[in-house]
Amino acid sequence: MKKLALHWQIIIGLVLGLAYGMLASNSGWSDFTSDWVAPIGTIFINLLKLIAMPLVLSSLITGVASLSDIKKLSRIGGKTIAIYIGTTTIAVTLGLLTVNMLKPGDKVPNAMKEKLQVTYEKDAQKKAGTVKEVKDRGPLQPIVDIIPSNFFFAASSNRNMLQVVFMAIFIGIGLIQIPKDRGKPIKDFFESLNDIVIKLVDIIMLMAPYGVFALIAQTINKVAGNNPSEVLELLGALGYYMFAVIIGLLAHAAITYMGLLKLMTRMQINTFFKGLAPAQLLAFSTSSSGATLPVTMERCEEELGVSEEVSSFVLPLGATINMDGTALYQAVAAVFIAQTLNLSLDIGAQLTIVLTTVLASIGTAAVPGAGIVMLVIILEAVGVPSAGIALILGVDRILDMVRTTINVTGDATVAVIIAESENQLNPQTN
Ligand code: ASP
Repeated sequence: MKKLALHWQIIIGLVLGLAYGMLASNSGWSDFTSDWVAPIGTIFINLLKLIAMPLVLSSLITGVASLSDIKKLSRIGGKTIAIYIGTTTIAVTLGLLTVNMLKPGDKVPNAMKEKLQVTYEKDAQKKAGTVKEVKDRGPLQPIVDIIPSNFFFAASSNRNMLQVVFMAIFIGIGLIQIPKDRGKPIKDFFESLNDIVIKLVDIIMLMAPYGVFALIAQTINKVAGNNPSEVLELLGALGYYMFAVIIGLLAHAAITYMGLLKLMTRMQINTFFKGLAPAQLLAFSTSSSGATLPVTMERCEEELGVSEEVSSFVLPLGATINMDGTALYQAVAAVFIAQTLNLSLDIGAQLTIVLTTVLASIGTAAVPGAGIVMLVIILEAVGVPSAGIALILGVDRILDMVRTTINVTGDATVAVIIAESENQLNPQTN
């Protein structure tokens, strides 16, 4: 019998996880789910995270070293960063258009506004507290933060991915400059580490349908607990806001990504989405583009025909700095909160949102829930009280799933575009 394609296996895991999660919260199985189902999801996501850091290091070092000269590196690097910033700016603009047209903030009943503020006040304060330090720093601090002062310290946390990206590119540049025979042992070492990690991705993915089942079940468990009726009330009140975010995200995928793929590459849209589907489903289930990165890389290389040279440079960089979904969501959320609090944002404020959101999304970590923390900075920049995030916290996890899927799709789109422009898209596979 022919084996079911991986993305179908994951979809089945996802649907069953959803069904189980709803049944469990209706039947009061919250503790059972936390004790016996959730750990499977945690093991799965830990395995993915475990290989993310070695993968970024090994693939970027070998990627840069194989570029053979600095000119090529700066050409590909320049193009990649320009397209990343360009697509993120389009995403924010689309988000602003959607939220200004749909005006979801005007649709929240007053009683519900108060209830949300009270219920989520504490959580909102906690998030705002995390950002306080970020706000008090100088304008060049984000750049300073990219440069680590200790190799092992930087590589010890997945949150420091951007530092590791810097280190790997830096080491790769050194490797290009020394005589070939002197660099060979290190290059061989990282190439072999890279092969091992890619093999490990295959092994971990055998567990994907079960891992996704458990992750989705636990997400529902966390959101709904044993009291699903409250969630329904929440979804009812914030349904229109969620609709605005999701419609904006879908429009970005349909207009920007499909348009760019059509205009700039020979890639069939069908092939693209079919090839990338497992990575997208994983992004949806884990809400972490960092944890999804190993699979995104594997799918881009093996299914979409992006060369290793391009994917190993463009994708780790994208997972850390390119977050179109997050940026679009932040724009919608900021205006929604302002609308709900009856504050009007003039065109100057909306332009400030574009600028701060593009920058904030670059600095957002590729982990669950990072987007809403950075939202606090955006709100402060336009003079909306940051306590307003209490209004949207209840449904943030659900939106995180969708925006992470778009983040990963955006990275893959740019990888295909860069590969095509460098003549490194393997036509056999598309
Ligand atoms: N969860 C997102 C990601 O990893 C970041 C965010 O919270 O928006 O891509």
